[in-house]
Amino acid sequence: MDKIEHIGIAVKNMAESNRLFAKLFGKEPYKIEEVASEGVRTSFFDVGGIKIELLEATRPDSPIAKFIEKRGEGIHHLAFAVDDIYKGIANKVQQGFTIINPEPKDGADNKLIAFLHPKSTNGVLVELCQEKKD
Ligand code: ZN
Repeated sequence: MDKIEHIGIAVKNMAESNRLFAKLFGKEPYKIEEVASEGVRTSFFDVGGIKIELLEATRPDSPIAKFIEKRGEGIHHLAFAVDDIYKGIANKVQQGFTIINPEPKDGADNKLIAFLHPKSTNGVLVELCQEKKD
């Protein structure tokens, strides 16, 4: 597992949170992107080379809507860059971690992503992500 690629924060209202975090970080988000398959809208801030991803639900059955319902707004996941997501997943399975989606799926920001179940990581939702190569 390589460096932290980004930190995901679940928010109720993207427009309001973009203003709030723009004030906090002293800069605007550099990208806003919807991932229809996941039911989320995302925005990205670059803070000293670390990306902060805000996530807003676009439908009631979105994982982000469910997360906010249960736990409120706040830090949702930590994402770590891997060179090869298939190897990354196989390696974590071999180590005994539970993978939520053993088959990588499309994420925001041109990434293939997979999540480790927080039950196997002390309550922290961990995302593995690999830049798509085409
Ligand atoms: Zn993420």
